[in-house]
Amino acid sequence: MQYDEEIIQTVKNAADIVEIIGETVNLKKNGTNYKGLCPFHSEKTPSFNVNPNRNFFHCFGCGEGGDTLKFVMLSQNLNFVEALKYLASRYHISLPERDLSPRELEKAKRKNLLYDINQQAAAVYHQLLLNDPRAVKAREYLAGRGIGDNIIREFELGYAPPGWSFIHRALPGLSEADLLEAGLLAANENGRIYDRFRDRLLSPIFNHNGKHLAFSGRILGAGEPKYLNSKDSLIFNKSNVLLGLFQNKKAIRAAKRCLLVEGNFDILALASHGIRYAAAPMGTALTAVHVRALKGYAEEVIILFDGDAAGIKAAGRAVPIFLSQRLTARVVVLPPEHDPDSFVRKFGAPALEKELGKAVSLPEFIFNDLEKRYGLSLEGKGRIIEELQPIIRAIADDTLQRTLFVSHFSRKLGLQPEQLAGRFAALRPSSPPPLKNSPAGEPLSAPFKLSRVEEQLLSFLIIYPNYLESFLTAGLKDTVSSPGGRQIIEAMAGLAESEAAAEPERLLDFVESSARPFISNKLINAPVLGDEELRIEAEEKINWLAENKLRLEMYGLTEQINEAIKNNDNDCLMKLLAAKDEMRKKNQQK
Ligand SMILES: [Zn+2]
Repeated sequence: MQYDEEIIQTVKNAADIVEIIGETVNLKKNGTNYKGLCPFHSEKTPSFNVNPNRNFFHCFGCGEGGDTLKFVMLSQNLNFVEALKYLASRYHISLPERDLSPRELEKAKRKNLLYDINQQAAAVYHQLLLNDPRAVKAREYLAGRGIGDNIIREFELGYAPPGWSFIHRALPGLSEADLLEAGLLAANENGRIYDRFRDRLLSPIFNHNGKHLAFSGRILGAGEPKYLNSKDSLIFNKSNVLLGLFQNKKAIRAAKRCLLVEGNFDILALASHGIRYAAAPMGTALTAVHVRALKGYAEEVIILFDGDAAGIKAAGRAVPIFLSQRLTARVVVLPPEHDPDSFVRKFGAPALEKELGKAVSLPEFIFNDLEKRYGLSLEGKGRIIEELQPIIRAIADDTLQRTLFVSHFSRKLGLQPEQLAGRFAALRPSSPPPLKNSPAGEPLSAPFKLSRVEEQLLSFLIIYPNYLESFLTAGLKDTVSSPGGRQIIEAMAGLAESEAAAEPERLLDFVESSARPFISNKLINAPVLGDEELRIEAEEKINWLAENKLRLEMYGLTEQINEAIKNNDNDCLMKLLAAKDEMRKKNQQK
C-alpha cells in the first residue's frame, strides 16, 4: 500500500527522534544536539549525533544518517512501510483507510472484491491440481521439471481444466460481471462468455503482501500462446509485478540480495533447489517501480541475463534505472544454452552460486561488451558513443538518470560529458576553462573532495535549496567544477524538478554514497538564520558568483590569447584582444 507524503510527514512529525533513538543509544545532550555511541559501527568515543530540530541523525564515524524513519528501518531491519506502521502505531496515528472519499471507498471495496475472487479461484484451481484426475498431465509435467509437492503448495499452483465453462460453475456465488472484471472469464465479439484459462497450469500472482492479483497460465503441450496472463485490472498491472517477491521476501531480506531472473519457472526451479532469494518481472522490461520495490528488501541485485543481443540491450536500459535508484546491480551470464531453470537442474544449486560469484557490475558489463566489440581506438570510441545514444535518448526525460549515466560512461571513455551527451551539448553554455583542474577521468566513486569555495556554496544550498535557481543563473556551474560538487548540483536540480517542495534531507537519496557524509554533516550542523540574515547571505553569494564568472571568462580569454601568441595566429589574437577589451569595459561599468 502506498502512503501519500502528507501522512508520512504526519508520522515523522509526531515521532520524537530523541525518544526513538534514545531507546537503543545512550544519548547525551551536546549543545542543541545529542551525542552517543553509534549503533551501526563499533566505536569507543561517540561520533553519533542527533539533531532534534531537524529530526535528523548522523554518524561521523561510519557516515550513516537520516531521519527517524530511516533509523527505525536500519535498527530494526524493517522496510519503509513497516517502519512507518511501527512509528504510526507507537504514536497512535491511524494510517489511511479512514478519510476516504465515497469514490475511493467504492474503489477500495472493488479492489477487495477482486482480491477475493482471485483467491477463491486460486483455491479451486489448486485443489484440482492436487486431486482431480483431469490434472494428471499437469502433475506429471511438474514432476518432470523437478517441482515437488511442497513448492506446489507453497506457491499455490493450480490447474484449469479443458472446456469453456468451468470456473463460473465452480464459483456459483459470484456474478458473471465480477468474474469478467477479475479476468477469469472473457467475452468474444458476439458477447459469448467463456473461461479465460483452459487446460493450463496456473500460478497465482501475488502482491508483496500475499494478495491474489491475477494468474499466469502456462500451456502444457504445444500451442500458443505459451504463457497467458490475466488482463490488467483495477488490482493488476503487469509491468509493476515482481513474481516470487511475496514467497521469497524473507530470504531476499536475509541474503540482502535478490537474484533477478526472467520467468516464473526459474523462480519455481530455484526454490525447489533451495535458492529462495529470486524474483522476476512479468515478461516486461525492468522499470523503476520494480527497482524501488527491490530496494526495500535487498542491497544488491544480481541479474541473470541472456547473453544474446536482446539481453544486452535490456541490460543497457536497466543501467540508468539502477544508477538513479542507487541500488547496486551485477550481471551474470549463463552458458548460452542454459537458463536458470535448466542450469540448476543439470548442475545443482552450489554450481549456480559459484556462477553468481562471478557477477560483474551492470555498467561494467555494458562497457565491457561494447569495448569487446569496438575497442578503445578513436573509431571504437565513436562506435561506443553511437551505441550509447539510444539509451541516453530513452532516458532523456529524466535529468538525474541521464546525468548519472552520461557522467559514468564519459569518465570510462575519458571524454567530457558533453561529448557523450551529443545532442544535449548544444543546449549548454560553453564554459571557460575552470581555475582548478577538474579531473575528467575520475570515476564516480572517486573520493569526495570539494574546494573551499565549493564547500561554502554547497553548504548553503543544501540547507536552502530554494536558492538553487538564482545561484545557477549567477554562474554556479562555472565555479563548481569538481565531480563531487557537480554531482550535488545535478542531484539538487533533479530533485527540484521531480519534487516541488522536497525537504533538504531528500537530497541524500539522490547522491552517491561518497557525497552523503558531507551532506549529512551540513544538515546536522545547519545554522538557524533569520529571514534578513538569510537574504543578505544569499545576496552576497550570488554577487560573488557573478563576479567569479567574469573572472573565469577573463582567465579563459587570457589563456586563448597566450595560445594565439604561441601559434603566431595574428588574426585570432586581434579578435581575442578586442574581446578582452570589451569585457574589461563591461566589468568596469558594473
Ligand atoms: Zn557509525
